[in-house]
Amino acid sequence: MLDLKSKLPSAGTTIFTVMSRMAAEHGAINLSQGFPDFDGPQALRDRLTWHLNNGHNQYAPLAGVPDLRQQIAAKIHALYGRAVNPDTEVTITPGATEAIFCAVTAVVHPGDEVIVFDPCYDTYEPSVSLNGGITRHITTRYPDFRIDWDEVAAAINDRTRMIMLNSPQNPCGKVWGEEDIAGLRRVIAGRKIWLLADEVYEHMVFDGQSHLSLLRYEDLAARTFAVYSFGKTFHATGWRIGYCVAPAAMTAEFLRIHQFINFSTNTPMQYALADFLKDEPGFHNTLAAFFQRKRDLFGSLLQGSRFGMQPSSGTYFQLADYSAISDEADTAFAARLTREHGVAVIPVSVFYAAPPEQHIVRFCFAKGDDTLRNAAERIRGI
Ligand code: GLN
Repeated sequence: MLDLKSKLPSAGTTIFTVMSRMAAEHGAINLSQGFPDFDGPQALRDRLTWHLNNGHNQYAPLAGVPDLRQQIAAKIHALYGRAVNPDTEVTITPGATEAIFCAVTAVVHPGDEVIVFDPCYDTYEPSVSLNGGITRHITTRYPDFRIDWDEVAAAINDRTRMIMLNSPQNPCGKVWGEEDIAGLRRVIAGRKIWLLADEVYEHMVFDGQSHLSLLRYEDLAARTFAVYSFGKTFHATGWRIGYCVAPAAMTAEFLRIHQFINFSTNTPMQYALADFLKDEPGFHNTLAAFFQRKRDLFGSLLQGSRFGMQPSSGTYFQLADYSAISDEADTAFAARLTREHGVAVIPVSVFYAAPPEQHIVRFCFAKGDDTLRNAAERIRGI
Protein backbone atom coordinates (compact mmCIF):
# COMPACT_ATOMS: atom_id res chain seq x y z
CA MET A 1 0.00 0.00 0.00
CA LEU A 2 1.19 3.50 -0.77
CA ASP A 3 1.44 5.55 2.36
CA LEU A 4 -0.21 8.93 1.87
CA LYS A 5 1.26 11.16 4.55
CA SER A 6 -1.05 14.14 5.01
CA LYS A 7 0.36 17.64 5.00
CA LEU A 8 -2.66 18.76 7.01
CA PRO A 9 -3.07 15.83 9.40
CA SER A 10 -5.23 17.67 11.90
CA ALA A 11 -7.60 19.28 9.40
CA GLY A 12 -11.12 17.89 9.26
CA THR A 13 -13.88 19.07 6.94
CA THR A 14 -14.48 22.82 7.34
CA ILE A 15 -17.13 23.78 9.87
CA PHE A 16 -19.05 25.61 7.12
CA THR A 17 -19.47 22.42 5.12
CA VAL A 18 -20.25 20.38 8.23
CA MET A 19 -22.99 22.73 9.43
CA SER A 20 -24.54 23.38 6.00
CA ARG A 21 -24.67 19.62 5.45
CA MET A 22 -26.28 19.11 8.85
CA ALA A 23 -28.79 21.89 8.08
CA ALA A 24 -29.76 20.12 4.85
CA GLU A 25 -30.05 16.72 6.56
CA HIS A 26 -32.41 18.08 9.20
CA GLY A 27 -34.28 20.56 7.01
CA ALA A 28 -33.07 23.36 9.29
CA ILE A 29 -32.98 27.07 8.43
CA ASN A 30 -29.36 27.60 7.54
CA LEU A 31 -27.89 30.57 9.38
CA SER A 32 -24.50 28.83 9.58
CA GLN A 33 -22.31 29.14 6.46
CA GLY A 34 -22.02 32.76 5.42
CA PHE A 35 -23.85 33.38 2.17
CA PRO A 36 -26.93 35.41 1.21
CA ASP A 37 -30.11 33.55 0.28
CA PHE A 38 -30.85 36.26 -2.31
CA ASP A 39 -29.20 37.24 -5.59
CA GLY A 40 -27.04 40.21 -6.42
CA PRO A 41 -27.98 43.00 -8.85
CA GLN A 42 -29.90 41.91 -11.94
CA ALA A 43 -27.86 44.32 -14.09
CA LEU A 44 -24.65 42.53 -13.10
CA ARG A 45 -26.09 39.13 -13.99
CA ASP A 46 -27.32 40.55 -17.30
CA ARG A 47 -23.82 41.79 -18.10
CA LEU A 48 -22.46 38.31 -17.35
CA THR A 49 -24.94 36.70 -19.74
CA TRP A 50 -24.06 39.27 -22.37
CA HIS A 51 -20.34 38.60 -22.13
CA LEU A 52 -20.90 34.83 -22.16
CA ASN A 53 -22.74 35.29 -25.46
CA ASN A 54 -20.35 37.78 -26.97
CA GLY A 55 -17.05 36.04 -27.17
CA HIS A 56 -15.48 36.51 -23.75
CA ASN A 57 -14.90 32.85 -23.02
CA GLN A 58 -11.16 32.33 -23.31
CA TYR A 59 -8.29 32.84 -20.87
CA ALA A 60 -8.07 36.24 -19.25
CA PRO A 61 -4.64 37.82 -18.82
CA LEU A 62 -2.67 36.46 -15.85
CA ALA A 63 -3.28 39.50 -13.61
CA GLY A 64 -6.86 39.96 -14.79
CA VAL A 65 -8.84 41.90 -17.39
CA PRO A 66 -7.29 45.42 -17.62
CA ASP A 67 -10.65 47.17 -17.54
CA LEU A 68 -11.57 45.52 -14.24
CA ARG A 69 -8.18 46.31 -12.72
CA GLN A 70 -8.72 49.95 -13.67
CA GLN A 71 -12.15 50.00 -12.05
CA ILE A 72 -10.66 48.51 -8.89
CA ALA A 73 -7.92 51.16 -8.82
CA ALA A 74 -10.56 53.88 -9.21
CA LYS A 75 -12.64 52.39 -6.41
CA ILE A 76 -9.66 52.17 -4.05
CA HIS A 77 -8.71 55.74 -4.78
CA ALA A 78 -12.26 56.91 -4.09
CA LEU A 79 -12.63 54.88 -0.88
CA TYR A 80 -9.18 54.85 0.66
CA GLY A 81 -7.37 57.72 -1.03
CA ARG A 82 -4.59 55.53 -2.38
CA ALA A 83 -3.44 55.66 -5.98
CA VAL A 84 -2.66 52.07 -6.97
CA ASN A 85 -1.26 51.17 -10.35
CA PRO A 86 -3.79 48.87 -12.06
CA ASP A 87 -1.05 47.32 -14.19
CA THR A 88 1.41 46.41 -11.47
CA GLU A 89 -0.43 46.39 -8.16
CA VAL A 90 -3.76 44.59 -8.71
CA THR A 91 -4.39 40.89 -9.31
CA ILE A 92 -7.82 39.33 -9.91
CA THR A 93 -8.08 35.91 -8.25
CA PRO A 94 -10.59 33.07 -8.13
CA GLY A 95 -11.88 34.12 -4.70
CA ALA A 96 -10.22 35.81 -1.74
CA THR A 97 -9.19 32.43 -0.34
CA GLU A 98 -6.78 31.82 -3.20
CA ALA A 99 -5.45 35.35 -2.85
CA ILE A 100 -4.71 34.70 0.82
CA PHE A 101 -2.93 31.45 -0.04
CA CYS A 102 -0.81 33.10 -2.75
CA ALA A 103 0.13 36.03 -0.50
CA VAL A 104 1.20 33.72 2.31
CA THR A 105 3.08 31.49 -0.13
CA ALA A 106 4.85 34.53 -1.56
CA VAL A 107 6.54 35.42 1.73
CA VAL A 108 6.44 32.50 4.18
CA HIS A 109 9.40 30.11 4.09
CA PRO A 110 9.80 26.95 6.19
CA GLY A 111 10.31 27.87 9.85
CA ASP A 112 8.90 31.39 9.48
CA GLU A 113 6.28 32.48 11.96
CA VAL A 114 2.95 34.15 11.25
CA ILE A 115 0.75 35.89 13.79
CA VAL A 116 -3.03 35.56 13.67
CA PHE A 117 -5.79 36.81 15.96
CA ASP A 118 -8.19 34.18 17.26
CA PRO A 119 -11.05 33.67 16.60
CA CYS A 120 -9.40 33.43 13.19
CA TYR A 121 -10.80 32.39 9.81
CA ASP A 122 -10.11 28.76 9.10
CA THR A 123 -7.99 29.05 5.94
CA TYR A 124 -5.19 31.10 7.54
CA GLU A 125 -3.36 28.42 9.48
CA PRO A 126 -3.43 25.78 6.69
CA SER A 127 -2.03 28.37 4.27
CA VAL A 128 0.84 28.92 6.67
CA SER A 129 1.49 25.26 7.49
CA LEU A 130 1.44 24.13 3.85
CA ASN A 131 4.34 26.53 3.39
CA GLY A 132 6.22 25.08 6.35
CA GLY A 133 5.42 28.09 8.53
CA ILE A 134 4.36 28.18 12.15
CA THR A 135 1.22 30.02 13.26
CA ARG A 136 1.28 32.01 16.49
CA HIS A 137 -2.21 32.62 17.84
CA ILE A 138 -3.16 35.69 19.84
CA THR A 139 -6.38 34.99 21.73
CA THR A 140 -9.10 37.63 21.89
CA ARG A 141 -12.35 37.15 23.74
CA TYR A 142 -16.06 37.82 23.64
CA PRO A 143 -17.58 40.38 23.83
CA ASP A 144 -15.14 43.07 22.63
CA PHE A 145 -12.30 40.91 21.22
CA ARG A 146 -9.78 43.55 22.29
CA ILE A 147 -6.23 42.91 21.11
CA ASP A 148 -3.53 43.13 23.75
CA TRP A 149 -0.75 44.69 21.67
CA ASP A 150 1.83 44.03 24.41
CA GLU A 151 1.05 40.35 24.01
CA VAL A 152 1.51 40.69 20.25
CA ALA A 153 4.83 42.49 20.77
CA ALA A 154 5.96 39.66 23.05
CA ALA A 155 5.01 37.03 20.42
CA ILE A 156 7.15 38.67 17.73
CA ASN A 157 10.71 37.52 17.17
CA ASP A 158 13.25 37.43 14.34
CA ARG A 159 11.40 34.58 12.63
CA THR A 160 8.09 36.50 12.47
CA ARG A 161 7.44 37.08 8.78
CA MET A 162 3.79 38.08 8.58
CA ILE A 163 0.80 39.30 10.56
CA MET A 164 -2.63 38.31 9.20
CA LEU A 165 -5.51 40.52 10.11
CA ASN A 166 -9.16 40.61 9.24
CA SER A 167 -11.32 43.69 9.70
CA PRO A 168 -14.29 43.54 9.85
CA GLN A 169 -13.51 40.19 11.44
CA ASN A 170 -15.23 36.90 10.72
CA PRO A 171 -16.62 35.29 12.89
CA CYS A 172 -16.77 37.90 15.66
CA GLY A 173 -17.87 41.08 13.89
CA LYS A 174 -15.05 43.17 15.39
CA VAL A 175 -14.05 46.26 13.42
CA TRP A 176 -10.55 47.63 13.90
CA GLY A 177 -10.20 51.10 15.40
CA GLU A 178 -7.37 53.61 15.40
CA GLU A 179 -5.96 52.01 18.58
CA ASP A 180 -5.43 48.79 16.62
CA ILE A 181 -3.69 50.63 13.79
CA ALA A 182 -1.46 52.32 16.38
CA GLY A 183 -0.77 48.96 18.06
CA LEU A 184 0.07 47.34 14.75
CA ARG A 185 2.46 50.17 13.85
CA ARG A 186 4.18 49.85 17.19
CA VAL A 187 4.80 46.08 17.00
CA ILE A 188 6.14 46.04 13.44
CA ALA A 189 8.38 49.09 13.83
CA GLY A 190 11.90 48.29 12.67
CA ARG A 191 10.98 44.74 11.65
CA LYS A 192 10.71 43.02 8.30
CA ILE A 193 7.14 41.83 8.69
CA TRP A 194 4.59 41.64 5.90
CA LEU A 195 0.90 42.24 6.45
CA LEU A 196 -2.04 40.32 5.06
CA ALA A 197 -5.20 42.41 5.35
CA ASP A 198 -8.30 40.32 4.74
CA GLU A 199 -10.84 43.07 4.06
CA VAL A 200 -13.54 41.05 2.34
CA TYR A 201 -16.27 42.59 4.55
CA GLU A 202 -15.02 46.15 3.87
CA HIS A 203 -18.50 47.45 3.03
CA MET A 204 -20.30 45.91 6.01
CA VAL A 205 -19.36 48.29 8.80
CA PHE A 206 -22.17 49.63 10.98
CA ASP A 207 -23.29 52.49 13.20
CA GLY A 208 -21.48 55.18 11.26
CA GLN A 209 -17.99 53.75 11.78
CA SER A 210 -15.50 53.72 8.90
CA HIS A 211 -13.53 50.80 7.62
CA LEU A 212 -9.87 51.45 8.38
CA SER A 213 -8.38 49.73 5.37
CA LEU A 214 -4.63 49.32 5.66
CA LEU A 215 -4.50 50.90 2.21
CA ARG A 216 -5.34 54.24 3.85
CA TYR A 217 -1.90 54.36 5.49
CA GLU A 218 1.16 54.93 3.31
CA ASP A 219 3.59 53.15 5.66
CA LEU A 220 1.35 50.12 6.21
CA ALA A 221 0.20 49.84 2.57
CA ALA A 222 3.88 49.57 1.59
CA ARG A 223 4.03 46.11 3.19
CA THR A 224 0.43 44.92 2.79
CA PHE A 225 -1.31 42.35 0.64
CA ALA A 226 -4.91 43.61 0.84
CA VAL A 227 -7.50 41.03 -0.16
CA TYR A 228 -11.09 41.67 -1.31
CA SER A 229 -14.10 39.68 -2.47
CA PHE A 230 -16.63 40.42 -5.20
CA GLY A 231 -18.66 37.48 -3.92
CA LYS A 232 -19.30 39.27 -0.61
CA THR A 233 -19.95 42.66 -2.18
CA PHE A 234 -22.33 41.46 -4.90
CA HIS A 235 -24.19 38.69 -3.02
CA ALA A 236 -22.57 36.06 -5.25
CA THR A 237 -20.33 33.88 -3.09
CA GLY A 238 -20.57 31.10 -5.68
CA TRP A 239 -18.85 33.21 -8.32
CA ARG A 240 -15.52 32.74 -6.55
CA ILE A 241 -13.87 35.95 -7.61
CA GLY A 242 -11.81 38.44 -5.63
CA TYR A 243 -8.60 40.42 -5.87
CA CYS A 244 -5.37 41.33 -4.17
CA VAL A 245 -3.80 44.78 -4.01
CA ALA A 246 -0.11 45.04 -3.11
CA PRO A 247 2.93 47.14 -4.04
CA ALA A 248 4.51 46.22 -7.38
CA ALA A 249 7.39 44.11 -6.05
CA MET A 250 5.03 42.13 -3.81
CA THR A 251 2.50 41.75 -6.63
CA ALA A 252 5.25 40.42 -8.91
CA GLU A 253 6.02 37.66 -6.41
CA PHE A 254 2.30 37.05 -5.85
CA LEU A 255 1.80 36.60 -9.60
CA ARG A 256 4.70 34.17 -9.79
CA ILE A 257 2.73 31.88 -7.47
CA HIS A 258 -0.76 32.63 -8.81
CA GLN A 259 0.26 31.69 -12.38
CA PHE A 260 0.98 28.12 -11.27
CA ILE A 261 -2.06 27.70 -9.07
CA ASN A 262 -4.82 28.94 -11.29
CA PHE A 263 -3.08 30.87 -14.04
CA SER A 264 -5.95 33.33 -14.47
CA THR A 265 -9.51 34.00 -13.36
CA ASN A 266 -12.91 33.45 -14.99
CA THR A 267 -13.09 35.81 -17.99
CA PRO A 268 -16.77 36.70 -18.55
CA MET A 269 -17.28 37.54 -14.87
CA GLN A 270 -14.38 39.97 -15.00
CA TYR A 271 -15.91 41.81 -17.96
CA ALA A 272 -19.32 41.84 -16.27
CA LEU A 273 -17.88 43.22 -13.03
CA ALA A 274 -15.92 45.89 -14.91
CA ASP A 275 -19.11 47.05 -16.65
CA PHE A 276 -21.11 47.05 -13.44
CA LEU A 277 -18.49 48.98 -11.46
CA LYS A 278 -18.46 51.57 -14.26
CA ASP A 279 -22.26 51.80 -14.53
CA GLU A 280 -23.10 51.67 -10.82
CA PRO A 281 -20.04 52.82 -8.90
CA GLY A 282 -22.15 53.59 -5.83
CA PHE A 283 -23.61 50.11 -5.29
CA HIS A 284 -21.19 49.15 -2.53
CA ASN A 285 -22.06 52.31 -0.59
CA THR A 286 -25.56 50.91 -0.03
CA LEU A 287 -24.37 47.75 1.67
CA ALA A 288 -23.70 49.08 5.17
CA ALA A 289 -27.28 50.38 5.54
CA PHE A 290 -28.68 47.29 3.84
CA PHE A 291 -26.98 44.88 6.24
CA GLN A 292 -27.35 47.09 9.30
CA ARG A 293 -31.11 46.97 8.82
CA LYS A 294 -30.94 43.17 8.67
CA ARG A 295 -28.77 43.08 11.79
CA ASP A 296 -31.25 45.29 13.61
CA LEU A 297 -34.25 43.30 12.42
CA PHE A 298 -32.68 40.05 13.56
CA GLY A 299 -31.62 41.64 16.87
CA SER A 300 -35.10 42.94 17.59
CA LEU A 301 -36.70 39.61 16.65
CA LEU A 302 -34.45 37.84 19.13
CA GLN A 303 -35.18 40.21 21.94
CA GLY A 304 -37.63 37.83 23.58
CA SER A 305 -35.16 34.94 23.38
CA ARG A 306 -32.71 33.65 25.97
CA PHE A 307 -29.69 34.46 23.77
CA GLY A 308 -27.54 37.38 24.88
CA MET A 309 -26.43 39.66 22.05
CA GLN A 310 -24.36 42.76 21.50
CA PRO A 311 -24.94 44.20 18.04
CA SER A 312 -22.29 43.16 15.54
CA SER A 313 -20.03 46.07 14.47
CA GLY A 314 -19.34 44.66 11.01
CA THR A 315 -19.56 41.61 8.65
CA TYR A 316 -22.90 39.87 8.15
CA PHE A 317 -22.51 37.78 11.26
CA GLN A 318 -24.01 38.17 14.71
CA LEU A 319 -22.63 36.39 17.76
CA ALA A 320 -24.96 35.24 20.49
CA ASP A 321 -24.24 34.06 24.04
CA TYR A 322 -26.26 30.98 24.98
CA SER A 323 -25.00 30.55 28.54
CA ALA A 324 -28.52 31.27 29.89
CA ILE A 325 -29.74 28.21 27.93
CA SER A 326 -27.06 25.60 28.31
CA ASP A 327 -23.51 24.90 29.44
CA GLU A 328 -22.88 22.46 26.60
CA ALA A 329 -19.79 22.95 24.43
CA ASP A 330 -20.67 25.13 21.45
CA THR A 331 -20.16 22.34 18.90
CA ALA A 332 -22.67 20.14 20.74
CA PHE A 333 -25.04 23.06 21.20
CA ALA A 334 -24.87 24.02 17.50
CA ALA A 335 -25.61 20.43 16.48
CA ARG A 336 -28.55 20.22 18.89
CA LEU A 337 -29.93 23.58 17.73
CA THR A 338 -29.86 22.28 14.16
CA ARG A 339 -31.39 18.89 14.99
CA GLU A 340 -33.95 19.80 17.61
CA HIS A 341 -34.85 23.39 16.85
CA GLY A 342 -34.29 23.59 13.09
CA VAL A 343 -31.79 26.47 13.02
CA ALA A 344 -28.18 25.87 11.98
CA VAL A 345 -25.42 28.09 13.40
CA ILE A 346 -21.62 28.06 13.59
CA PRO A 347 -19.84 27.24 16.86
CA VAL A 348 -17.11 29.79 17.52
CA SER A 349 -14.62 27.62 19.43
CA VAL A 350 -13.43 26.05 16.16
CA PHE A 351 -11.82 29.39 15.25
CA TYR A 352 -9.49 29.20 18.26
CA ALA A 353 -6.27 27.25 18.79
CA ALA A 354 -7.03 27.38 22.53
CA PRO A 355 -10.74 28.15 22.93
CA PRO A 356 -11.51 30.25 26.00
CA GLU A 357 -14.38 29.34 28.31
CA GLN A 358 -17.26 31.05 26.49
CA HIS A 359 -20.61 29.95 25.14
CA ILE A 360 -21.20 31.69 21.86
CA VAL A 361 -22.42 30.78 18.40
CA ARG A 362 -22.48 32.73 15.13
CA PHE A 363 -25.62 33.53 13.16
CA CYS A 364 -25.46 34.74 9.53
CA PHE A 365 -28.04 37.47 8.96
CA ALA A 366 -27.45 37.85 5.20
CA LYS A 367 -30.88 36.36 4.62
CA GLY A 368 -34.29 37.45 3.40
CA ASP A 369 -36.44 39.07 6.09
CA ASP A 370 -38.83 36.12 6.06
CA THR A 371 -35.99 33.67 6.62
CA LEU A 372 -34.85 35.78 9.59
CA ARG A 373 -38.41 35.96 10.97
CA ASN A 374 -38.94 32.21 10.67
CA ALA A 375 -35.60 31.46 12.27
CA ALA A 376 -36.27 33.93 15.10
CA GLU A 377 -39.60 32.30 15.85
CA ARG A 378 -37.85 28.98 16.32
CA ILE A 379 -35.06 30.57 18.35
CA ARG A 380 -37.48 32.31 20.70
CA GLY A 381 -38.90 28.92 21.56
CA ILE A 382 -35.58 27.65 22.95
N1 GLN B 1 -16.79 32.72 4.57
C1 GLN B 1 -17.91 31.89 4.84
C2 GLN B 1 -18.27 31.92 6.30
O1 GLN B 1 -17.56 32.42 7.09
C3 GLN B 1 -17.70 30.43 4.51
C4 GLN B 1 -16.94 30.09 3.31
C5 GLN B 1 -16.80 28.60 3.17
O2 GLN B 1 -17.75 27.88 3.33
N2 GLN B 1 -15.63 28.16 2.92
O3 GLN B 1 -19.27 31.39 6.68
